[in-house]
Parts: sequence; structure tokens; C-alpha cells
Amino acid sequence: MVKEVDKKGKTAFACEECGYVYEEKEWAEKCQTWCSEKQSCNLEITEHGAPPE
Ligand SMILES: [Zn+2]
Repeated sequence: MVKEVDKKGKTAFACEECGYVYEEKEWAEKCQTWCSEKQSCNLEITEHGAPPE
């Protein structure tokens, strides 16, 4: 499950594996699936999000 986080008053979604934050839940889920399977980040996915602060 991705984690819902508050990003400047808006709901965003964080990958629990790498911590990247996405405005769209779909991308967070893609990232989490990738991270848990590959134990690495996919740049084509993370470019849609923001690194953890
Ligand atoms: Zn991730």
C-alpha cells in the first residue's frame, strides 16, 4: 500500500519503499511495485514525483 501524505495542504501519495512522493496515486503504486520487486528506482517513474524532503 502506498502512504497518503499531506503535501502543502494537498493529498499526495508516497512510495513506502523509496519515499518518493507523487500527486497521482497511480504513479505511487507503480513506483512501489517497482521498488519492492527490483530494490531500485525507475527513473521513468520517479520523474513524475518528488524526492522525499
Ligand atoms: Zn519507490
